[in-house]
Order: sequence, then structure tokens, then C-alpha cells
Amino acid sequence: MLIFHSIVALQQYLDEQRKKGLTIGFVPTMGALHQGHISLINTAKHNNDLAVCSIFVNPTQFNNAHDLAVYPRTLDADSAMLEAVGCDIVFAPSAEEMYPKPTSLKFDFGDLERVMEGQFRPGHFNGVGIVVSKLFHIVQPNKAYFGQKDLQQCAIINCLVQDLNFDLELVICPTQRENDGLAMSSRNRNLSPEQRALAPTLYACLQQAKTQLLDNIDIATVKENLANQLDVIAGIELEYFEIADFETLQPLSGVLSQRALPTKTALCIAAFLGKTRLIDNLIITHS
Ligand code: AMP
Repeated sequence: MLIFHSIVALQQYLDEQRKKGLTIGFVPTMGALHQGHISLINTAKHNNDLAVCSIFVNPTQFNNAHDLAVYPRTLDADSAMLEAVGCDIVFAPSAEEMYPKPTSLKFDFGDLERVMEGQFRPGHFNGVGIVVSKLFHIVQPNKAYFGQKDLQQCAIINCLVQDLNFDLELVICPTQRENDGLAMSSRNRNLSPEQRALAPTLYACLQQAKTQLLDNIDIATVKENLANQLDVIAGIELEYFEIADFETLQPLSGVLSQRALPTKTALCIAAFLGKTRLIDNLIITHS
């Protein structure tokens, strides 16, 4: 496995591989890798000649200085995990390498970023749009792999790829979970044992909300039930719970019953456990 810190050196190496006709599968990450990331690498490796993983804690997508400061950085352990699963190339640039000067370009993804993560993390998707565009230009992958766990990010990147004609295929991979249902996340490392014990409640709540929707309980009541349920749990502070159209991610509201739900509905949640912010989602498909 090769590790590059320099953009030019990586580009030269990848150019040579492309000239040999090899295909590139790319997995952008912020490191502190877990089996969720590894599932993306495995899929990239399986479907391409070369798997490239970037590890870069992108400062421009953090709207909260504390979150950036405590974001785990574990490059040696990450490299060992990647080598063990046959990843071919790691790209781990410094912030100076990626941003020799501040970027003046700004992305606005319209309605897609006015809700949920975009609403509660102003500027977040601008940072994502900039870093992912840079990485796509640097790596020029045939396919790029993202996790459904960050559902709104997938929609934003899909918009980026369509609107800017990036010549690559986006592949969205399923959310990997711990045995108790908690979605794997680098931020889980920051949970205390007590918070870790509470964290699976988020997924359990999503599943209960799904059951209620499928039982034809109206959306407003389902949302209220979930909020009430979390309200009595000390240690979890709900930031948002939305029931949204999967295609547009625009929240559904009112007294829509299951019969009126879109073909694919996304249930999305964000909550704080202490200072750690976790997100999760569940998709309901019905015909
Ligand atoms: P991050 O390092 O958190 O920026 O995540 C890098 C990529 O891994 C993103 O495409 C995430 O959606 C994906 N990812 C994070 N957690 C999971 C998970 N539990 N299951 C599947 N993919 C994930």
C-alpha cells in the first residue's frame, strides 16, 4: 500500500495507472476508520482495479470549533486497517496541501441544504462541496463510494456530480451498524460508557417511527411521539427528526398517512449525547 501526502506525487502515480488501463475506486474519509469505512473500501476494491482512500479532516466543513478540535485523528491505526483489507493507495494531505490559501468559491445547493444538516450546520455543505470537488479533480476516480449514513451528503454530492459533470459513477453503500443497532461513526469514540449505552436509542426510535408510519399513524403524531420519547431520556438532546421525501429530502408534514407517503421516505435524526452529535437515518420503501 502506498501513502501519499503530496497532491502532485499522487496525481503522477495515478496518471501512470490510468495509462495502464487500470480503473480507480475512491473512498473519501476523515479517518478514525471503522467497519463502515472498511465496507466502502471492500466494495471499491471489489469493483475496481485500484482502491484509493483519502484521509483528511476537512476544516471547512466544521461549523463547530469544538467538534473539529476533538475529531479523532488516528493515521497509523487507519493505515494498518486499510493495508489489512488490501487498499492500494492512501492519500493523507495536510490542511496546507489542500488549502494553500483560503477558498473564495462558495457552493449553494438550494433547497437541498436548507433542511436538516444544512439548516443546523450552516456552511457545512459548502465545505463538503469544496473538498469533494478538489478530491474528485485530484483523484479522477471511475467510481466514488459514499455511505447512506450521511444521506443528505449523498444527495448533495449527487447534485455536485450532475451539475458539474464530474465523469464518475457515485455508489451509495448501506449503513454498517454495531450489534445493538448504533450506526458506526468515528464520533462514537468520543462517547462515555454511559453515553455509548444510550446511543442505540436513536436507531430504536427510528425503527419505532417506521412501524408507526406503516401502521398509518399520521406524520405529525409520529414526530411528536419520537420527540416525547427522547424528552424523558436524560443525556440525549434531540436536534431534529424529519420524515422527508427521499428524492428531494424536503420534510413531509401534517396528517399524511402511509397511503400518501412517497415511494421512498427518509426518516432522519440528529441528536447530541453530551457534546457528541450523532446522526442516523432509515429509508421506508413502499409501492
Ligand atoms: P467520514 O469519515 O465520517 O467522513 O465518512 C467517510 C465515508 O464513510 C462517508 O461516505 C460516510 O457516509 C461513510 N460512512 C460513515 N459511517 C458509515 C457507516 N456506519 N456505514 C457505512 N458508511 C459509513
